[in-house]
Amino acid sequence: MTKAGRRPLVAGNWKMNGLRSSVSVVEAVRNGLSPDLLCDVDVLICPPSTLISSCVAAVYGSPVAIGGQNLHAKRNGAFTGSISAEMLADLGASYVIVGHSERRAYHHETDDGVHAKALGARRAGLCGIICVGETQDEREEGRTLDIVRAQLAIGVPKGATGADTVIAYEPVWAIGTGLTPTPADIAEVHASLREMLGQLIGPEAAKVRILYGGSVKPGNARELMAVENVDGALVGGASLVADDFLGIVNAYAR
Ligand code: PEP
Repeated sequence: MTKAGRRPLVAGNWKMNGLRSSVSVVEAVRNGLSPDLLCDVDVLICPPSTLISSCVAAVYGSPVAIGGQNLHAKRNGAFTGSISAEMLADLGASYVIVGHSERRAYHHETDDGVHAKALGARRAGLCGIICVGETQDEREEGRTLDIVRAQLAIGVPKGATGADTVIAYEPVWAIGTGLTPTPADIAEVHASLREMLGQLIGPEAAKVRILYGGSVKPGNARELMAVENVDGALVGGASLVADDFLGIVNAYAR
């Protein structure tokens, strides 16, 4: 299910879950991936920053990547409690989630802030996963495409490439609820995002992976990943259980 040469990415977002004992989940994912499958799909786990170092050690020598869930846009400075892209990279992270809807809702992150963080990720050589998505009210008001296109237009830095940028379409109402849009709805949003990316970065838009996120489970992954312009998944709850996460990665098994 590689689409237009884009290598799919299945990314797990553990959110604020996981203690040191949870590194065993990363080990189980690493051990459970079939070598055949890894030729076809990139696999990423984003644990809390407290576990990045031990997770990087746990996947050493395997193709599983480790990423951060958030970053501060600046390189360093008097920002108590914050973590920069350089710090994540220093630990061995290769991706970072930017502008997750929980960051937007609970930490008041704006599209301009997302843009600055995406630039910070690029500065440190990390691939930024920029999240966009509408709320239930916005969908009911028929504003989905306007909302996600505006988030994209402001959030994506000039000169973004398929190597340094991934987009994740995550309808806020689908996150952690067990609800998902229909495949046709997802196809419409992803096509619109691809078109908007084309306006922003030209032909490079064809190389940028657009993930779907929101209640992806082993049972619906194959159907969702088959949708046109869906280049993988951003997975919350189901990424906490190795078998469930592997079940989603296996949507890419031939
Ligand atoms: C997420 O938090 O990015 C997410 C998609 O969560 P869930 O899979 O639990 O809906």
